[in-house]
Amino acid sequence: MIEFINLKSQYQKMQKEILEATDRVFSNASFIGGKDIELLEQNLSNFCGAKYAIACSSGTDALLLSLMALDIKAGDEIITSAFSFYATAEVIALLGATPVFVDINDDDYNINASKIEEKITPKTKAIIPVSLFGQTADLDAINQIAQKYSLIVIEDAAQSFGAMYKNKRSCSLTDLATTSFFPAKPLGCYGDGGAVFTNHESLATKIRSLLNHGQTQRYKHKYIGLNARLDTIQAAILNIKLKYFQNEINTRQDIAQIYTQRLATKTKTPVTKDDRLSVYAQYCVRVSHREKLQEALLKQGVPTAVHYPIALFAQEAFSHLKINKNDYPVTNAVCAEILSLPFSPYLSVEDQNKVITEFSKAIS
Ligand SMILES: *Cc1c(COP(=O)(O)O)cnc(C)c1O
Repeated sequence: MIEFINLKSQYQKMQKEILEATDRVFSNASFIGGKDIELLEQNLSNFCGAKYAIACSSGTDALLLSLMALDIKAGDEIITSAFSFYATAEVIALLGATPVFVDINDDDYNINASKIEEKITPKTKAIIPVSLFGQTADLDAINQIAQKYSLIVIEDAAQSFGAMYKNKRSCSLTDLATTSFFPAKPLGCYGDGGAVFTNHESLATKIRSLLNHGQTQRYKHKYIGLNARLDTIQAAILNIKLKYFQNEINTRQDIAQIYTQRLATKTKTPVTKDDRLSVYAQYCVRVSHREKLQEALLKQGVPTAVHYPIALFAQEAFSHLKINKNDYPVTNAVCAEILSLPFSPYLSVEDQNKVITEFSKAIS
């Protein structure tokens, strides 16, 4: 069976350095905070160009902390994409606010910026564009709308750390941005992890406090917060992985290009806009008869995945919102047809050839 994301090969390459780094953390018996976390935050900030990088416990908590820092509460509305991982909308509802979903583009699967304005009401507080599958949304257009209506923009960059938009990095382009270090993301750790990015000092200070029980000094608590710290061990691992990350991003381009060259006549391959560079968190194609195709591929040892089969508004947890699914024709079509192929910077030439051969057979 081909590895869907080949994290085993990645570990083999970095094993010596990772074992040294983790052994140092174990030997120092300093598991929370410390130099590794500080160094990671510096490295993340240097990499993406955001002034402040704040490490935290997951991509979900990074989103939650961002909304908490803005005092989002019951009655507020937050505009976001109808097509994302559940967490994007979950955190909005967790704070009692209402997610307001916008349909997506048919090419890059990101929020359709031209449909945002019609959803803005006096209750709207923020927009969360998701930079899906490793490609940023149209952030200039979204920032412009936000400015016009005095809204905050939070880029959900869980899948796009390292991506570029007009020669700038994802995570540096909006009031706030969040990413995830879940193992399967472009920059993954060895468990759960995440980070928040901002250029605003006051938001950075508040988020730092919120992720540590709202503490401002030892045993002095200004806010109702969370325990949402990143483990030191994960920071030590990420500091190693970051050294290889730009090379991995380059390899991702090469592997994606080969897929696209050889599959474009057989299926709809990913569209990367001219002013963007994708980190291909997923390499997605569009197919009909998806389940039959997946079964046939699996029989040949080619695993596939579906990101995502169900639109956010169609989730049971949001049924009380009584959203009309007919308002989301593109999301509905994409949910039915999208298919992720095995992809990582460690996909071997032989494995990629096999995916292409078997996919081509199965689709005809
Ligand atoms: C993975 C993901 C999240 C959540 O990140 P976790 O680290 O798993 O909590 C949020 N949004 C998107 C778009 C994601 O892909």
